[in-house]
Amino acid sequence: MSVITTERQGDVLVVVSNNPPVNALGAAVRTGLSAALDEAEGDDGIKAVVIRCDGRTFFAGADITEFGKPPVEPLLPEVIERIEAFAKPVVAAIHGTALGGGCEVALGCHYRIAVPSAKLGTPEVKLGLLPGAGGTQRLPRVAGVELALEMTAKGDPIPASRAKEAGLVDRLAGEGSLAADALAFADEVKDVRPIPRISEKSVAPAPEAIEAFVKANAKRFRGFDAPAANIACVEAATRLPFAEGLQFERQEFMKLMFGSQSAAQRHIFFAERKASRIDDVPEDIALRPVEKVGVIGAGTMGGGISMNFLSAGIPVTIVETQQEALDRGTGVIRKNYESTAAKGRMKPEQVEAAMGLLTPTLSLDDLADCDLIIEAVYENMDVKKEIFGKLDTIAKPGAILASNTSYLDVDEIAAATSRPGDVLGMHFFSPANVMKLLEVVRGAKTDKDVLATAMAVAKRITKVAVVAGVCHGFIGNRMLMPRQVEAMKLLMEGATPQQIDKVHVDFGMPMGPFQMSDLAGVDIGWHRDPTRIENIRDALCAVGRWGQKTGKGFYDYDEKRNPSPSAEVQQIIDDFAAKEGKAKRAISDEEIVERTLYPMVNEGARILAEGMAQRASDIDVVWIYGYGWPVYRGGPMFWADLEGADKIVAGLEKHGFEIAPLLKEKAETKGRFN
Ligand code: NAD
Repeated sequence: MSVITTERQGDVLVVVSNNPPVNALGAAVRTGLSAALDEAEGDDGIKAVVIRCDGRTFFAGADITEFGKPPVEPLLPEVIERIEAFAKPVVAAIHGTALGGGCEVALGCHYRIAVPSAKLGTPEVKLGLLPGAGGTQRLPRVAGVELALEMTAKGDPIPASRAKEAGLVDRLAGEGSLAADALAFADEVKDVRPIPRISEKSVAPAPEAIEAFVKANAKRFRGFDAPAANIACVEAATRLPFAEGLQFERQEFMKLMFGSQSAAQRHIFFAERKASRIDDVPEDIALRPVEKVGVIGAGTMGGGISMNFLSAGIPVTIVETQQEALDRGTGVIRKNYESTAAKGRMKPEQVEAAMGLLTPTLSLDDLADCDLIIEAVYENMDVKKEIFGKLDTIAKPGAILASNTSYLDVDEIAAATSRPGDVLGMHFFSPANVMKLLEVVRGAKTDKDVLATAMAVAKRITKVAVVAGVCHGFIGNRMLMPRQVEAMKLLMEGATPQQIDKVHVDFGMPMGPFQMSDLAGVDIGWHRDPTRIENIRDALCAVGRWGQKTGKGFYDYDEKRNPSPSAEVQQIIDDFAAKEGKAKRAISDEEIVERTLYPMVNEGARILAEGMAQRASDIDVVWIYGYGWPVYRGGPMFWADLEGADKIVAGLEKHGFEIAPLLKEKAETKGRFN
């Protein structure tokens, strides 16, 4: 059956798309729409057309599998132009989400009617693009510059009610009567002339509004090309005749489509979906039920981990050894929820509902009925082994036993139980209620259904999960280590913390290695003996420079936690360099890139070759969602492909690094990771 069908209702031709799951505007849909227009054109008995969709939504966007491939006629802009130029009124009947090309089809129609629950949006910017089928030219003409900027440059959809207020939608339909209401609408307007065409409208220049918008969103847009291109197109709509505006939009679209940023953003879009696939586990494997979760430790991580489940409506029993720690931990959870509620992002009754699912306890025995137990106590192998040994006697058969360890050997932890098949790592990132990434660490003996269940649980709590093998630091932290080591060496050779951090921030990272260290705590993993000073870190810790929490670390902080360079830190660095006989020299930004970012790629290549990550794109997902690697650079392995493995190898060799064999092979064969 064709994806587009037509149906005569009196003198209205109702055109219906049925292209599950989201009525994407692939070639078959575009061809079908064209044919339907031919039919309406050739039939004198037809006076108006309604376009609507079956299934859960109106056209929810372009068919992104067509991206980057040779275009197939008819192209979407042509179809939309034909709709707009059509000599008989065309009504778009919208439910679900009219997104991207779908929103543009609606804009090409002469009238729009939507159910109240519908949403309209142009999210192309999130894939590094712009609505390139006239969206940037029609939106400001019908809804004004400000809303057009919001919709195109930020990409968030708006509800039908707002679209109605802005004139983007002409009429709201009854929630259950869209088809009938749209037909009635078409019947009403079939003889109205002139036919309203958005392209024939004009919109006044609004330089102040544009300037204010750019200023208000400077942080959000930092480093991205697409928002600026969207803004430029909206601005062009206020200045150029429609046809010239379309040309301008096309040029800008092509620049983005063939640029590296959009390629990176599309790569991550697909990489995220691929990450949930486990190579040797069938997709239909039977999962273990997870209806009740236990968390051990109510510290920084245990609290955040619990919140994920509570927010998803899954009951959590949380265990501490001391009442005071338990009260503090549950208090922090409540405070976090209440501050979310204070910002209007949660209702007070939702706070109570979430807290009502939490059972605090001092007894591990209370975990006996949990389906999944996540341990988040101190990073100490003996402590963890003791806990897993006890869990073995307490947990019900089939319960999944997970550790949130950052670095420790999950196989050794599993060996403390008589059921290593039920054990794995679930490595959350801090703050655990916020960060999207979850590394699911697969032990040598982890059962396949346990692994698959952990991945499915991750989805339920809206995390992006990646499978990692057992190795020191798994994927993310393992790649972080060579970067930190090299950053410290660079300090000794003459670079400053601010210079190194700036290179990383300019690259697009949310912060550099020293800002990160100050945030996490310079004292993490410190031996705690102020008289034992063997490196710069020891020296900082000895004088109480533990990072933001003590008001000073690699930087000095004011009450508002604004950093400034520290003379004391510079003195400590200089003293160390002098003591080790290191001559200081000027270090270029390029050298910082070569010595801090290239080694990450090198380590990524090792991780891949060892099978610790299933695929290069999983490593990219880890760095995007766990560490804020700029999405427009697609993750370290995608970026490596852009840089070229040969260039990276040359850079690393210049500084005496040992090259990972897989990276060397890519360089020699001009191969790519992704
Ligand atoms: P934390 O010190 O904030 O919390 C640990 C909590 O565990 C404390 O409240 C402590 O009282 C409790 N605890 C200790 N022994 C216990 C026991 N036998 N039974 C019950 N509770 C016990 O530490 P954290 O930062 O939350 O780290 C916990 C784990 O998560 C560590 O393995 C760490 O490596 C890992 N991790 C930490 C981060 C991070 O950024 N902090 C990120 C990822 C993973």
